[in-house]
Amino acid sequence: MSLSFDLVVVGGGIFGLTTAYTALKSGMTVALIEEREVAAGASGGLLGALMPHMPARWNPKKEFQFQSLLQLEAHARVLEDETGLPTGYKRCGRILPLTSEDKLHHHIERAEESLTRWHPQETGFSYEVEPEGSRADWLAPGSAPFGLVYETLAARISPRAYTTALAAYIRSNGTLMEGARFLGFDEKTGVVTLEGAPPSIKADRIVIANGYWGYDTISEMTGQSIGRGEKGQAILLEGKGLEDLPAIYCDGLYVVPHEDGTVAIGSTSDRVFENADVDPARTEELLFRASAFCPRLIDREVLTSWAGIRPRCNKRDPMIGLLPERAKTYAAVGGFKISFGIAHLVAKALVAELAGKEPEHGLPETFRPTHHFGHNLLAHDQLS
Ligand SMILES: Cc1cc2nc3c(=O)[nH]c(=O)nc-3n(C[C@H](O)[C@H](O)[C@H](O)COP(=O)(O)OP(=O)(O)OC[C@H]3O[C@@H](n4cnc5c(N)ncnc54)[C@H](O)[C@@H]3O)c2cc1C
Repeated sequence: MSLSFDLVVVGGGIFGLTTAYTALKSGMTVALIEEREVAAGASGGLLGALMPHMPARWNPKKEFQFQSLLQLEAHARVLEDETGLPTGYKRCGRILPLTSEDKLHHHIERAEESLTRWHPQETGFSYEVEPEGSRADWLAPGSAPFGLVYETLAARISPRAYTTALAAYIRSNGTLMEGARFLGFDEKTGVVTLEGAPPSIKADRIVIANGYWGYDTISEMTGQSIGRGEKGQAILLEGKGLEDLPAIYCDGLYVVPHEDGTVAIGSTSDRVFENADVDPARTEELLFRASAFCPRLIDREVLTSWAGIRPRCNKRDPMIGLLPERAKTYAAVGGFKISFGIAHLVAKALVAELAGKEPEHGLPETFRPTHHFGHNLLAHDQLS
């Protein structure tokens, strides 16, 4: 059996799934190949925090993320309608405690800058400083001695529900191959090589979106190592009665209530790691630290702990676009800590590029291959 596609996407995480979904909706024939099962990597997590960058020192990356967060609700609702499945999306808002007078002044300035950056009159989103003692039913007052920020742009989504809905769409409208490990792509013949003896697959173009593992794949293709992994761990507690409360960011941790009566807490960050296994000591640590600023978490049952490896580019921002010295091999890797909030807009820009069209929101220069590989590497059509 030989199957031929306009596009083969490698990796069933949030970047690969949104790319395949968007390409299918643009009319391409698409196969997504996933070594294990959908969301087996970093995208199978618990937290789902969709948190805006601060409205300060504004730049194209912050504007891109802002536009992504503005559009995500509509994107999630369309996907829910198409599949009949929930995504767990909710605009929940976020609390940021202020722990010093310096921080208070700093955030008063940010609140002012939000008036020009977030366009509250058109978007309805606010970033406001509230006095000490605000929201004391959720955040321990002692954790916010100088008051707090409450902003309404932040949202959350269920990583597992969202990826399940995307996968359902791809199964119904394209080809989703789980248990299929990508080994290589011959641009001349279009043959996509998979491990073992699967059906022969051909593609006009491919997108490498296999997360942290993608750095090895890209390194084999280009000889350049542009990123690495960073391990993280999160936990999920029973959270009945907390569903409608805002997310909190305190002490480097997020507390994110979800609509199914759970609360996620995360995350740890380890640049050095041996595997992606859960560490019980980190579970205890997360629970202890979060309960200190959020007493309503005390005595709640830990439902599960989970760890994964985030893809992080050396240049920090994601890398989206055509690989150097290639004509048909693209990549979308390195969402690091913000993948869920930007993946749908990244996918739209990438699919527009594949179709030779101008995207509605262009990718920031810092997301482009030249930023990650340098300008010295030639594009395919500049060779010889
Ligand atoms: C603890 C933790 C908490 C996080 N919290 C948040 C958060 O709140 N908000 C947020 O936006 N982000 C968060 N992140 C980051 C986010 O989860 C990641 O940035 C994102 O999931 C990366 O998605 P990806 O599609 O690039 O990679 P992945 O999700 O890792 O997907 C890559 C896929 O490729 C597959 N694969 C690998 N090699 C091959 C191959 N050769 N052939 C075929 N398939 C292959 C893997 O099996 C995997 O399924 C968190 C991460 C962690 C670890």
